[in-house]
Amino acid sequence: MPADHPNPAPGPLRLIQSFASTRGTVPDSDALRTREEAAAWLHKAGLLPPEAGLTNSEHAALLRLRDSIREVLAAHTRGRRDAESAARLTKALADGRLVLTVDPASAVQLASAARASYPHVVATFAVAVADSATSGTWSRLKACTGPRCGRAFYDDSPASDSRRCSTHVARR
Ligand SMILES: [Zn+2]
Repeated sequence: MPADHPNPAPGPLRLIQSFASTRGTVPDSDALRTREEAAAWLHKAGLLPPEAGLTNSEHAALLRLRDSIREVLAAHTRGRRDAESAARLTKALADGRLVLTVDPASAVQLASAARASYPHVVATFAVAVADSATSGTWSRLKACTGPRCGRAFYDDSPASDSRRCSTHVARR
């Protein structure tokens, strides 16, 4: 995971923060621009097996998933309920085909029911969102409203009312 985030998020939410931050605010900065670049990022993050790649439709779905996450983070910043963004994220996460598995020792976990590798990538993101929602941190991951920023930042303010990352917070 890159360590260059302002206000790093705790636990599994850090993965979502890194993913959301693969698109920068400079027009040409997108770590997932091509299929190959996106697969390389997923390999590096340990989300996709080294031998696996992405199809064109999986690449397009991955970008839609990222856009829908970024929209929801922007809604967190505004403190508004955004039904359209929520519906888009729900739809994008459905690719993960999550099911609840129970093993003989009665250990229970969320896992992907799919065999292909791409749904497992989506399932990992979905579980990270679910875990952070359970621990109460999900709504604190936001998109900075600073000029030309938009970076995903973790709001650890007591009232959870920050709208800017630490780089921009002093210049309101
Ligand atoms: Zn910022």
